[in-house]
Amino acid sequence: MIECAGRGYCGVMWPYHPDLLARPVPRYTSFPTAAEFTSEVGLRDQEAALAGVSGDVSLYIHIPFCQEICWYCGCNTGRSNKVQRLTSYLETLHREIVLTGARLQPGVRVRRIAFGGGSPNAISPFDFVRIVDALTVHFPLYDPVVSIELDPRTLGADWGAVVRCVGITRASMGVQTFAPHLQAAIGRVQPEDDIIRGTDLLRNAGVTSLNFDLMYGLPGQTDEDLGDSLSRTARMGADRVALFGYAHVPHLIPRQKQIAADNLPDQDARFAMAQNGYRQLTEAGYQPVGFDHFALPGDALAQAAVSGHLRRNFQGFTEDQAPALIGLGASSISQFDQVIFQNEKNAGRYRMLLSQDMLTATVGVRRSADDQQRGAIIEGLLCRNEARIGMGHLAELGGALAVFVERGLAEIEGETLRITPEGLPYARTISALFDPYRQESARRFSSAV
Ligand code: SF4
Repeated sequence: MIECAGRGYCGVMWPYHPDLLARPVPRYTSFPTAAEFTSEVGLRDQEAALAGVSGDVSLYIHIPFCQEICWYCGCNTGRSNKVQRLTSYLETLHREIVLTGARLQPGVRVRRIAFGGGSPNAISPFDFVRIVDALTVHFPLYDPVVSIELDPRTLGADWGAVVRCVGITRASMGVQTFAPHLQAAIGRVQPEDDIIRGTDLLRNAGVTSLNFDLMYGLPGQTDEDLGDSLSRTARMGADRVALFGYAHVPHLIPRQKQIAADNLPDQDARFAMAQNGYRQLTEAGYQPVGFDHFALPGDALAQAAVSGHLRRNFQGFTEDQAPALIGLGASSISQFDQVIFQNEKNAGRYRMLLSQDMLTATVGVRRSADDQQRGAIIEGLLCRNEARIGMGHLAELGGALAVFVERGLAEIEGETLRITPEGLPYARTISALFDPYRQESARRFSSAV
């Protein structure tokens, strides 16, 4: 077991307070969250944000296709089996790359590019390289760190060559679980050999930071199932692990109706799984990163967590420090200090707008000074377990915070609110106290654990 660099957060038993976990809360990959997006924000905000951005910028490129659709998946993605649909999407994406790049002022530097989806390897390696070429020509790339999400089931040898030639050093594979009976239950059958082969291929291609996405709270999943998946993950040497609780919300994600709900672990069992997963991964040498990510100590994400530079954006916890994220592709979200907006989700309308040389932001939210201040508090609580909240919030929330302080889940020192090691699973719940939009619409969010 390594010495924990997480200020005592490793190896602590989490006290279980079901009353504090009863209310669904957002994941807070932004503040305000996507639930606050309205059509009052759109093209004019997008044009102004792109024209005004300067300095370091990150890009996110959305490829909304997968060879097979997993039943649990909430992503904006569809099957890649229709050539015409794929071709026309990629043509439109190229148009958006040209138009967006042309709006940036001198002085912008693209330091990171993330390809996500969907599964970017659902398109051909040839088409993928064409996107990289277009970005190279139309954006000011400054030796960017390039990352990609990959489906190991369709990761052929040709992708190894692409990863090496493009210089992709970070990759994430959707693993979810190694247990065949759970894979069948969630509609993602994926032999372990695919993971082993994909890992070898990516390592040989130069990937130095490899993430496995895993899930707990699956129908019929036992502690032993989860423990086995985590052991295999550690043995395969994943540099990063994202351990998400499965959120069964078929009223929001109709695909999930295919998943039998009668065998889902209850809240008690989910809490135990989250705790066991946390303990097992930290004992295996992983540094906890926020409440649901883990990274080996040499990885940049672990280093950001230890040094206090961890950030949170639509891709989750990140070491990315760029103040602006530009999303490209249907449904992509762009984040700037003063505004967040989302591209048109519908692929047909996305294509129609760009065919008229129009960008496609259709919803979003402007971030007031109060939003920005609350967002900084929430990001501090989730990324560093503490935030300076100021006397105003202390006075406003004293009673609500006292519930957590009295149970030893948080402490207040001067104007600083700190989440204790025992309070880590309640980080999202505590963060939600600073979210004034969060009084209703609980059905839109997931359990905090
Ligand atoms: S491969 Fe990934 S993005 Fe595609 S459906 Fe499955 S979980 Fe969703």
